[in-house]
Amino acid sequence: MPTKTNKKARVYLDYCATTPVDPRVSKYMYEFMQEKFGNPSSIHTSGREVRDFIDEARDFIREYIGADEPTEVIFTSGGTESDNLAIRGVVAGSKIKKPHIITTVIEHKAVLTTIQELEKNGVVEATYLKVNHEGEIDIEELKKNIKYNTVLVSIMYANNEIGTIEPIREVGKYLEKLNSGRVRAGFPQVYLHTDAVQAFSYLNTNVKHLHVDLMSVSSHKICGPKGVGMLYVKKGTLIKSINTGGAQEFGVRGGTENTIGIAGFYKAVEILKSEREKEAKKIEKMRDTIIGKILKIPEVELTGHKKNRLPGVASFVFHKIEGESISINLDLEGIAVSTGSACTSGSLQPSHVLMACGFDPEAIQGNIRISIGRFTEKSDIDVLIKVLPGIIKRLRDMSPL
Ligand code: PLP
Repeated sequence: MPTKTNKKARVYLDYCATTPVDPRVSKYMYEFMQEKFGNPSSIHTSGREVRDFIDEARDFIREYIGADEPTEVIFTSGGTESDNLAIRGVVAGSKIKKPHIITTVIEHKAVLTTIQELEKNGVVEATYLKVNHEGEIDIEELKKNIKYNTVLVSIMYANNEIGTIEPIREVGKYLEKLNSGRVRAGFPQVYLHTDAVQAFSYLNTNVKHLHVDLMSVSSHKICGPKGVGMLYVKKGTLIKSINTGGAQEFGVRGGTENTIGIAGFYKAVEILKSEREKEAKKIEKMRDTIIGKILKIPEVELTGHKKNRLPGVASFVFHKIEGESISINLDLEGIAVSTGSACTSGSLQPSHVLMACGFDPEAIQGNIRISIGRFTEKSDIDVLIKVLPGIIKRLRDMSPL
């Protein structure tokens, strides 16, 4: 039996890590699960009804992102798999002997370590674009780094640690123009992949508006279930499946579909479609309150872009104290936030994103990220603002720094 969640008033301010499942989504999944269990690849009625359902879900999501064909929406197990499939799949599908990939130093590890591994194994050449203090790339740098063998540019739409939004549309428009002459001259097309995992909740993710060829999305960041997501793959993109097995998902992603997960993801996108814009405005207002109040605490800096940032993200560095200690103390008060300095192995490793933005390691140790979303209420922010200054003062009084 799963343990019951502690219903004692908890303030959840870690939406970038994951979001609570919307009750409308869980209800929909539960009902789906009760009714439909067939394998969509089976030709009998039980299978066919699930196949029809997946087709319906796929078509809804296709329309939401402005794609042309259902075959352009590939269901995956989430953001990590979508990023892997985009990168490894394009490399595998490329006719170039040693393809070149351009990415940024602030990508999520699902992109960064995938490219680094391919590079280490001699499969690709890679260029890692730097960012400025606010976490923004320089498009001119990107332009300078495109080579005859460049096949992929992978740039995240919005960063998960600092919330900075990258100029994907501008990059997409540039590459589209470049590609028309380039392909005619016999060079490979430069595909644009964007990891839109954090952006999907709030920003315009119409693939035509963005001019992208590949786009990764994850359901658990949009109040849907974990373990499901999708990769948009524009028709004509040379991509190969990276797992051998069945021919599901148009031969691009073998394996029986996560039908219950897809049901939840579908419902989550449906809710997003009707509520996204209104919700983004409400959340942005709360985020600005958080930023305004926290910046009144001495020796604190906001990370990320001042304006071009996700509505739900406010990340700070508190000088002379450790983010881990702040986060533990907040947790004792029932408030969940995250720190960019914690490494999964348990050892403290400074965040590669904050390092890339030029923060020094001492400042980075003092990082916490507050991320809010659909179910955040004003009272949650009030609790945070009430307890945080006291925690900071207490930790500073104790700090040897
Ligand atoms: N990309 C970004 C920007 C993310 O924030 C995350 C999750 O934190 C991922 C990819 C990975 O997504 P998933 O947890 O669905 O594998």
